[in-house]
Amino acid sequence: MKKKILSGLMVMTMVLGLTACGSKAEPTTTTKTAETKSSGQLAGIAMPTKTSQRWIDDGDNMVKSLEKLGYKTDLQYADNNVQNQVAQIENMITKGAKVLVIASVDGTALTDVLQQAHDAKIPVISYDRLITKTAFVDYYATFDNFKVGVLQAGYIESTLKLKEAKGPFNIELFAGSPDDNNAKFFFDGAMSVLQPYISSGKLVVQSKQTAYAQVGTLRWDGATAQARMDNILSKSYTSAKVDAVLSPYDGISIGIISSLKGVGYGSATQKMPVITGQDCEVASVKSIIAGEQTSSIFKDTRILAEKAAEMANAVLLGKTPVVNDTKTYDTGMKVVPSFLCDPVVVDKANYQKIVVDSGYITADKLK
Ligand code: BGC
Repeated sequence: MKKKILSGLMVMTMVLGLTACGSKAEPTTTTKTAETKSSGQLAGIAMPTKTSQRWIDDGDNMVKSLEKLGYKTDLQYADNNVQNQVAQIENMITKGAKVLVIASVDGTALTDVLQQAHDAKIPVISYDRLITKTAFVDYYATFDNFKVGVLQAGYIESTLKLKEAKGPFNIELFAGSPDDNNAKFFFDGAMSVLQPYISSGKLVVQSKQTAYAQVGTLRWDGATAQARMDNILSKSYTSAKVDAVLSPYDGISIGIISSLKGVGYGSATQKMPVITGQDCEVASVKSIIAGEQTSSIFKDTRILAEKAAEMANAVLLGKTPVVNDTKTYDTGMKVVPSFLCDPVVVDKANYQKIVVDSGYITADKLK
């Protein structure tokens, strides 16, 4: 009887693993993490910045998920400063953390500190952003980052009706921070949809800035994006009009929208172009409701945190965490077993269902 209940639980864990966060789960030896807790070990959680609500939620959700599993937590935010983050992780190691969950500021800059973690036998879970240039990342919990880009560009494709319409349409391209491994995945995913239209001339990038190296936005900074958009508008759009902007992140979209408003878009005579985004930040969902930003990508950080916490717990218990990707994410020194959650497109038509009804953002915050 006991055996039956246990195997029932294990099946449930596997089914949840398959459905909660995407469809591609390859069930590995499933653990009994839900019923096996820590006895108060310390888990270090390093987050990049508080300038974006998503990372605040990520940090809070990680604390909740790890505490539920019996851990004590040390949550630190690095103010988007690489040296701060290195110092914070060193401090966690000194304080005796038994596991580290890290969302990096600069994924390429943690090689030395992760060597220290490895020397102290502390496992590392890369959170959302892959840490690169090191072999000392045990597991990676993230979203399907290529798919995020496909969804963003797919939204532009369907809104401009690129398949049927004659065009040409003008588009400008923005990418995220070059030191964030995700940024390239988002951009590559988006270009897998957009490039054929650019090659055929149906989409025109008037600025001619199409290469990844030209379109990046260091530290995902909205003001940097705004300055670049100001520049593009004044040089390339004296007579032409922008029909779409590929923006990888809501904070960047806000900068782009300010720039566009500055030259008269969003008025009775000149409508806003299609503008994508990511994260469903409160300000941007409001902007979507107001008809400025067109879409965003919902990434349920509650599920991500739960996955990362389960991974951390499984590793410490000597079990194999559930993963659904063992090929895509390469640090340059190791392909890291990963769990990819599923991103979802949000716009004015479905925000209520996706972000409000799911309890991710409460309705009063959107007033
Ligand atoms: C995350 C995105 C976020 C961006 C800026 C990326 O690493 O995956 O969700 O929009 O960082 O914070």
